[in-house]
Amino acid sequence: MKSSARLLAAFLGSLLLSGPVAAQDQEPLVIATASPAGVYHVVGRALCRTLEAPCRAQPTDGSSANLRALRRGELKIALAQSDLHLYATLGTEGFLKDGPDPKLRSVFSLHNEPFSLVVRRDSGIKSLDDLPGHSVNIGNPGSGQRGTMLRLMDARGWSRSDFRSIHNLPADQQALELCHGNIDAMVYTVGHPNASVAKAIRLCDAVLVDVEGDTIDLLVDAYPYFTRAWIPADLYGVDQPAVHTFGVKGTLVASADTDPDVVYRLVAAVFEDFDRFKASHPALGTLTPQEMIHDGLTAPLHEGALRYYREQGWIDEDEMAAATD
Ligand code: GLU
Repeated sequence: MKSSARLLAAFLGSLLLSGPVAAQDQEPLVIATASPAGVYHVVGRALCRTLEAPCRAQPTDGSSANLRALRRGELKIALAQSDLHLYATLGTEGFLKDGPDPKLRSVFSLHNEPFSLVVRRDSGIKSLDDLPGHSVNIGNPGSGQRGTMLRLMDARGWSRSDFRSIHNLPADQQALELCHGNIDAMVYTVGHPNASVAKAIRLCDAVLVDVEGDTIDLLVDAYPYFTRAWIPADLYGVDQPAVHTFGVKGTLVASADTDPDVVYRLVAAVFEDFDRFKASHPALGTLTPQEMIHDGLTAPLHEGALRYYREQGWIDEDEMAAATD
């Protein structure tokens, strides 16, 4: 069917189902995710399913792009890594020029996102220290992995000229480029399992490498938003030991201007059907409400989320008062 015919059929279908007024009145909630090859997009779609109201997960360039679009008022709700969430709140690192974002709000945190280094087996890269001199994909501008990698390069004292080449590929292209030999390594700050890493391992027997050493110890010790992380053994159906690295958390963020009722309804839907939500991706399996409302969040809680957490008795009011003093 041609796309115009398909659109017309969908439109007529929506009239039959809900009548013209309802179809026009309810603007779908758009949840900004990242690459379709990642976990954010799976989570965004799960959030929409949970909401049971017009809602759509929107692929984007990733965390940094989402945080900037939220600030410009182009988004209502989005996913973003906890490290970049902090930088955007305070106006540091990649957000130095933008300054602090006083309107950024936390909804809850999500799964762990280990910083994942995937290399071609014939690249000779056995550890993080072997990366210089190679061609490395640090991720597309706007992506979270690029933000984490640039922070790591800075801490390690590496500049672009230390590498044979630096690439800016999005997550859905990097596995193919790795397998075609156009890059030796790719980095991805992402929950596991995910389609991009699975593709590299399946197509060309690529391997996940440990990301350890003094620089990682220093980052984890100095910055609470970096934690030790690991990728479980055999997750991708190959004989691979557990991988040790560092990581961040995925977080759901909104703007202070986002309608509190919308945020309230979304949060209530997630926690009232929590087992179903957690079952939508293995990376969500161990989530608990207590961790989700406390860990990895820098920006103040959104009014709509806070209302629900208060109703549940999940908020320590003394702690809240101390935080806002
Ligand atoms: N952490 C990545 C980013 O912020 C996205 C990972 C994913 O899509 O799951 O760009």
